[in-house]
Amino acid sequence: MTDLLKLPIDDMVEFFRRYHKEELLEFAQGYPKDNTTFVIDWSELFKYDNDLADVTLSEPERYIVGWEHALREVDLPIPTELTNARVGFRNVTPDLSVNEIRQGHMGEYIGVYGRVSEITQVNPEVQNPIAICKDCGAEVEMLDMGDEVQLPRDCPTCDEFVEYELSDKKTEARDKQLIELNTLAEESAGSETDSLMVEVYDDLVGNVSAGDTLRMNGILRYDANDMVGGDSLDRMPDIVLDCLGIDSENQTFDEFEAERIDEIKEIAERDDLFQALVDS
Ligand SMILES: [Zn+2]
Repeated sequence: MTDLLKLPIDDMVEFFRRYHKEELLEFAQGYPKDNTTFVIDWSELFKYDNDLADVTLSEPERYIVGWEHALREVDLPIPTELTNARVGFRNVTPDLSVNEIRQGHMGEYIGVYGRVSEITQVNPEVQNPIAICKDCGAEVEMLDMGDEVQLPRDCPTCDEFVEYELSDKKTEARDKQLIELNTLAEESAGSETDSLMVEVYDDLVGNVSAGDTLRMNGILRYDANDMVGGDSLDRMPDIVLDCLGIDSENQTFDEFEAERIDEIKEIAERDDLFQALVDS
């Protein structure tokens, strides 16, 4: 459990209040239907308080919990329920290329750029599975075992060995998508291309396509499901980036588009429009 008392919650609330009040209001109005992750531009936090920005990256497990707590503490003019809202950061710098990731980055919140080589379809990942006894209809909670869930052998109500089915309605699930990020060709210097597996959840799924060049920001973790094999521990578990913020190429592209539009407008306002067009 994170000890919230040791975190600067007041500073975090103040940051939201000062810089994100309107966005937060909009977010709260659309929660949880339209959005579930409130993503902050990390460079803004750095300008507000660089120590807080740095420690958020070096101790993300504790600090993200703090940020999520702070999010719910902000007074908004409408009644809100942000119980499971997540907080993420994008635009984390300095960022790393996929092939620059080292053991020392484990557990840190980092920004990694690369090219999307593969994406899976979006699938629901079960969070709190509820099973229903086929004999008596009792609802039974299942034990979460990483990749798998386990059922008690006997139904606790009818006390017999029974069959179960998963409750489609009561079982909590979230959307999940896996993304493989590769080192950009110009960064790999001819060597074999490194890759990083990235997990995205909830409203962050479905935002990227294969071939996109982008930066994914999140916590670098060992893949827990990969670590335990029988009684042994895999000494080389896979690593995954638990992504909480995406900087897509499209954002840069949009800026470029806006510039072009301004340029076109400027030309259109000129008297020598015809000549400008001929010259362009
Ligand atoms: Zn039963």
